[in-house]
Amino acid sequence: MAKSSNSEKLYRKAEKVLAGGVSRNTVFRQPYPNYANSASGCYITDIEGIERIDFANNMAALIHGHSFPPVVDAVIEQLRKGTAYTLASEIEVAFAQHLIKRVKSFERIRFTNSGTEAVMAMIKASRAFTEKAKIAKAEGSYHGTYDFAEVSQTANPSNWGKIDRPSSVPLAHGTPVGVSKDVLIYPYNDIERTLAILDRQAGQIACVIIDPVPHRVGLVPGNDDFIRAVYDWTRRNGALMVFDEVVTFRVNYGGAQQKYTVQPDLTSLGKIIGGGFPVGAVAGRADVMKVFDPHEKSLLLPYSGTFSANPITMTAGYKAMEYFDKTAVKKLNALAQKAVSQIREVIRLADVPVSVTGAGSMFRMHLRPTPPTTYREAYQSKEVSDVVKELLDFMYYKENVLMINTFSCMLSTVMTPKEIDRLTEGLHRAFV
Ligand code: PMP
Repeated sequence: MAKSSNSEKLYRKAEKVLAGGVSRNTVFRQPYPNYANSASGCYITDIEGIERIDFANNMAALIHGHSFPPVVDAVIEQLRKGTAYTLASEIEVAFAQHLIKRVKSFERIRFTNSGTEAVMAMIKASRAFTEKAKIAKAEGSYHGTYDFAEVSQTANPSNWGKIDRPSSVPLAHGTPVGVSKDVLIYPYNDIERTLAILDRQAGQIACVIIDPVPHRVGLVPGNDDFIRAVYDWTRRNGALMVFDEVVTFRVNYGGAQQKYTVQPDLTSLGKIIGGGFPVGAVAGRADVMKVFDPHEKSLLLPYSGTFSANPITMTAGYKAMEYFDKTAVKKLNALAQKAVSQIREVIRLADVPVSVTGAGSMFRMHLRPTPPTTYREAYQSKEVSDVVKELLDFMYYKENVLMINTFSCMLSTVMTPKEIDRLTEGLHRAFV
């Protein structure tokens, strides 16, 4: 396979200065990562000069692809006026107004610098508001790198425990034992088991975290009945229901939460709302968000961040979200629908045991004949992930298509049916 010599040379230098040669494991590839030179629209060019279609969009963060001209122009103007102040700025107020108008459950918002921080702030706000310490999260779901949010991302099935009571396995070695004790794990979309697990610790739970379309759990949308059952449980037990929409905010104009009959108390955001720059946010009920309010005599949750709501991110994010209006969302989701139908046709023609899941502008392929419904079904064994790696390498090196390493695609508004055709034709060659 045509590998890249410039990248290899660069990686040899990188190994000597970056831990493992990379700054984020996401970009690691065997035998070495590929390095980007430039990107524009839905195309990315590496340092060998090879151009590829970008279906990864920086792990779902780029809703308008790369270097979206309205964002570039607005950011250049802001760069000349400063990049970060020890003062608040007008643009953060305007952007907050925009987001609050977009989503029913948002009454107040706080900006952070990453999705990890947003989830952390959301968990801490839930604890401060309820005066309870424990949280519940779905088995296998990813919510960033806060200790508590990391529990149960184990890649080792021998650690899973019984499905009636999935284990609270910490991710990083050396995680304090107390962390796992305060995190309950529930099986996604399984009402009976989830409520039984929550009941055992009723009275001690600050929040139940739900990603409405959890990527690692299989990119399967949450059922309305499940969400409602959790919501009702939290009302009965003095807990909050909180959504992690760091990825899923792209699914609809008002996020994935828009389609449910109940709304979360708090929501964490990130990725697309930064317009290509680092970002996070937590938004939700005004009474809960009061825990951040420095006017309060006894401030329940002191919270700051040197670069939080910096004017570059705010400018880029506001512009990107303005352009991601209802018409743009509808058009993008229709393009994803088209892609999924074409992929299903390719699967049928190639006669391979592959299925597709997803929502809105995101979809994921699975090497199994029927779509997974649980984390345990979506989990890729070593053998399966080796095949996925081969397919991804084929798509990358032979078809010049960049996808996310779970065999997923996140579309951007600058894509057209032409790029979808290239994806599906490439997949057909990969499968046969
Ligand atoms: N929550 C979810 C659902 C995510 O997918 C991610 C990142 N992929 C995060 C939180 C963390 O976001 P960040 O990488 O910006 O810290």
